[in-house]
Amino acid sequence: MAKGRVLSGMRPTGRLHLGNLEGALRNWVNLQSEYECFFVSVNWHALTTGYEDTRELRALVRDNVMDWLSVGIDPQKSVVFVQSEVKQHAELYLLLGMLSGIGWLERCTTYKDWLDNGYEPNYGLLGYPVLMTADIVLYKADTVPVGRDQLQHLEMARELVRRFNRLYGEVLVEPQAKLTEFPHVPGIDGRKMSKSYRNEILIAEKPEVIQQKVRRFFTDPQKLRRGDPGRPEVCPVFALHNIYTRSETEEIAADCRSGALGCVECKDKLSQSLIEALAPARARRAQLERNPQEIEDILTDGNRRAREVAEQTMQEVREAMKL
Ligand code: SF4
Repeated sequence: MAKGRVLSGMRPTGRLHLGNLEGALRNWVNLQSEYECFFVSVNWHALTTGYEDTRELRALVRDNVMDWLSVGIDPQKSVVFVQSEVKQHAELYLLLGMLSGIGWLERCTTYKDWLDNGYEPNYGLLGYPVLMTADIVLYKADTVPVGRDQLQHLEMARELVRRFNRLYGEVLVEPQAKLTEFPHVPGIDGRKMSKSYRNEILIAEKPEVIQQKVRRFFTDPQKLRRGDPGRPEVCPVFALHNIYTRSETEEIAADCRSGALGCVECKDKLSQSLIEALAPARARRAQLERNPQEIEDILTDGNRRAREVAEQTMQEVREAMKL
C-alpha cells in the first residue's frame, strides 16, 4: 500500500525551543517512518506578523532547518524546503482566494486573536488560512498533524478544497487532521514556553546557558526551602522532569512532597537531564555549523523536489479552471 503523505510547516519567526521540539519536531521525526513527509519553512507566513523587519528572516530559515536536521529530520526520507522557493504556493493562493469569502475568513479565531493582540488587520493576516490551504493541497497531502488549536485552520482548508472540487472537478485532495496531543512545556516563568514571553530554552542552547536558565525557573511558591513540602503538580520544573527525567519522576514527586528534595538540587537534576537529552542534537548542529553549504545543498534539493510535485498539481488546477 502506498504511504500517506504529510505536509507540515513552521513559521521562521524565531529560534526554536523546547516547546517547538516537543510540540512539533518529535512528532515530525516519528512521522517520517510512516508517511512520505514534506516539511516546509513557511517564510511567507512569517511575513503576516513580521513584514516590517525582515533582516533576520533568511538566517532564521537556515537556523530553524539546522534544528530540524539536528533532532532527526532526515532529508533522504523527507522533503525539506522553503515556501518562497516554490512559487506555485503563490499561484494557488491567488486562485483559492477567489473562492474565499471575506466573512468566512473573518470568522477564523486565529485572525480574531491577532487583532485582539494589537495586530493591524491586513490582507495577509486575513488570507492566512487560504495560503495554508495552498501549502497543503499543492502536495496532495492527505494527512496534516495538528494540535487542538489548529483544528479550525484545517477545517477551513477542507471546506475550501470541497468548494474547489465542486466547481472544477475532483482535483484537490481533502486533507485529514491527525490530531496529536503534545506534552505541556512550560517556560521559565511557568507560562507556556514561547518566544514572545522570552521564557524559552533553545534546542541549540549551550550547557552552561541551560544551567543558568533552569536556575531561574519558577517553582511551587509555597516551597521556600528544603524541608518544606512541595506540590510537583503546580511546578514547571516538574513538568519538564516529566519529559526529560521520565524514569525518576515518581521519586522526584515523592521527595518534593516530603520535603526531602530541595528546589536547587531538583533544578540541577533537570539541567543534567536537559543537557544529556540535547547532546546528540548539539553535536549534529555543530557539524552543520562547520559546513553551512550542507544546509544549502539540502534546501536546493528539497526545493527542487517540492517544485516538481507542486507544478504537477498546478497543471491539473490550471486545466480544471481552464486557465
Ligand atoms: S523540589 Fe522540584 S518539583 Fe518540587 S517544587 Fe522544587 S523544583 Fe518543583
